[in-house]
Amino acid sequence: MSVDAVSFLKQVLKIRSINPPGNELPVARRLKDLLDEHGLENTLIEFDENRANLVAWLRGESIDPNRRVLALSGHMDVVPPGQVEWNYPPFDAVEQDGKIYGRGSSDMKGGLVGLVFAMIALKKSGVRLRGDVKLLASAGEEMGAVGAKLLAETGHMDDVDALIIAEPSNDNVVIAHKGALWVEITCYGQTAHGSTPKLGINAIEHMNRVITAILNDFHMEYSPDDLLGEPTCNIAVIEGGVKTNVVPDKCRVELDIRTVPSQKHEDVLRSLEKLIEGVKADCPELKAELRVFNDLPPIATAADHPFVRTVQDSTAQVYSQAKPIKGMSGYTDGAVLAPVERGVPAVIIGGGRIELAHQPNEYIDTDKFLQAIDLYKTIIVNYLGTETQES
Ligand SMILES: [Zn+2]
Repeated sequence: MSVDAVSFLKQVLKIRSINPPGNELPVARRLKDLLDEHGLENTLIEFDENRANLVAWLRGESIDPNRRVLALSGHMDVVPPGQVEWNYPPFDAVEQDGKIYGRGSSDMKGGLVGLVFAMIALKKSGVRLRGDVKLLASAGEEMGAVGAKLLAETGHMDDVDALIIAEPSNDNVVIAHKGALWVEITCYGQTAHGSTPKLGINAIEHMNRVITAILNDFHMEYSPDDLLGEPTCNIAVIEGGVKTNVVPDKCRVELDIRTVPSQKHEDVLRSLEKLIEGVKADCPELKAELRVFNDLPPIATAADHPFVRTVQDSTAQVYSQAKPIKGMSGYTDGAVLAPVERGVPAVIIGGGRIELAHQPNEYIDTDKFLQAIDLYKTIIVNYLGTETQES
């Protein structure tokens, strides 16, 4: 007897695919078993230790080489549960008052399981689709989208005509998200005994100058974006010094810069380098190094793209009124699967609650989770068309 969607989601929520380090392989295996059970073609792609991507197909009837391929994307990793104590244990998948609690319920095992059950439902219904559906279940989205990168690099997006990403969007039709440029700046000084600071070079004091310059004078150039607003820069981490009586010879910060489509990351980096050059002009002893450790572009699909209209019309069918078009600040696997230059339209849509992503007591509303399955089925049928439909 086949498992229902809610029970299956709970099983998947109980698997601790916490990133870092990931450990997505058991999630991929569980999905694979379910797909096998329903006769859906799939390939498990293992990499590193205990990690895997999973690619699966629901093939259409057409043998036309130009038939459409709709890709469905979801990630299998989750962020750690955090320091705050949860009302329900984060990996117990407790269902209470119409909500399923658990790390990853909204972001985004709920969305991923929804995609899989939409494929299974269509397979069971015997509907004759004109094109193919391709599931891209990825590892490592929460740390630089490493699994999606692997999928894109090995050609898994080459045959794709449009992409649905089931990240939480509160059912909204999200057609753009910001890019992420994560930069580490390290200041190097010279150590000395804390009682004789003049004999050393204090790396923290130098970093103080760098941070002050960032706060006062780091202005990114961009054109305003209707959906995404303005770029941001957050000083996220600072680390330096070893002991009270030692002059620190190293201090590092991590910046989280979020960009909009009118910016180029290389230009942002150049202006940051220039800023630091300016600080050096006032303080010749200052030594600072920049290192980029995450570089994901923003994505944007035109609001009047036919695929966006298909998705929005599908929301009108399922939710009785069309859901609005929005942008979001956080990045998704879409940054590597559908960068603007690839020209593949991408829409992020899911029943998860975006405001609960990475939060304690994350949950998904059971009815939203189930409705999203209907939505994904509707999008697939509307976009690919069926053999009985007039073209
Ligand atoms: Zn996510």
